[in-house]
Amino acid sequence: MLFDSHCHIDAPEFDADRDDVLRSARSEGVSHIVVPAYVAERWPSLLALCQRQAHHNDWPCLLPALGLHPVYLSQHQDDDLQRLSAALKQSAVVAVGEIGLDKFLPELSQPVHWAKQVALFEAQLHLARDSNLPVIIHARRCHADICRALKRVGHRHGGIVHAFSGSVEEARQYRALGMHLGLGGPLTWPQAKRLHAVATQLPLDSFVLETDAPDLIPYGHSYVHGDGRARQPGERVRNSPAFLPSVLTVFAQLRGLPEAELAAQFFSNTVTALHLQARLNLM
Ligand SMILES: [Zn+2]
Repeated sequence: MLFDSHCHIDAPEFDADRDDVLRSARSEGVSHIVVPAYVAERWPSLLALCQRQAHHNDWPCLLPALGLHPVYLSQHQDDDLQRLSAALKQSAVVAVGEIGLDKFLPELSQPVHWAKQVALFEAQLHLARDSNLPVIIHARRCHADICRALKRVGHRHGGIVHAFSGSVEEARQYRALGMHLGLGGPLTWPQAKRLHAVATQLPLDSFVLETDAPDLIPYGHSYVHGDGRARQPGERVRNSPAFLPSVLTVFAQLRGLPEAELAAQFFSNTVTALHLQARLNLM
């Protein structure tokens, strides 16, 4: 059993063949998927998709997270935080996410937008704390800012720093704050030496697996389509939750450990990170 801790299977990229993608993920061993939100407008369809899974026993189990993503700052409405607060009380979400900070995109780093990002992130950390929920964090080039915010708010319910891209030292700082580190497609790139150091130097209970599909396609999958057709120059190839085993394979090679053992460890880590023992009847 594999747990994809981060997949935007509700995204429009999957509208044409979502059912097929979910079935192929399941047949590749992916039994559970966390579906994090990015804009409030899409929360109802995300929650409806996760509920529909109950009628499809050939799909993985879909677990929703709700939040306001920093990259979509300009799309968030003034009352979205109130809507989030209400939605967290009513829906069976597993985490507040995807929330966070982004200093990679120049426009978001301008002082006025940065201040908005920080305010939005901290407000959502407060909601998570008040709801006793873990968080799913998007963090690009601002790990120190994220750690400061987690400390300032006093977040104690853990969660996942998704698509972790920092150093060994930054990884250790997150672990000290009770956070797990999400590893996906970027780990599979041969040139990802810093990420390989993180994967080999931290204890195995630090990590969870993810795809972030439709983004962050693993190495090798980038050059052909699912049907074997070669990629044309400039053509974007969609990532899929069915590609999660590629991430596991690379991690197993880096650590020299059997894939089956690691799969069990990462599944258990995800259950711990998101407090899913009772929810998945694993007590
Ligand atoms: Zn994401």
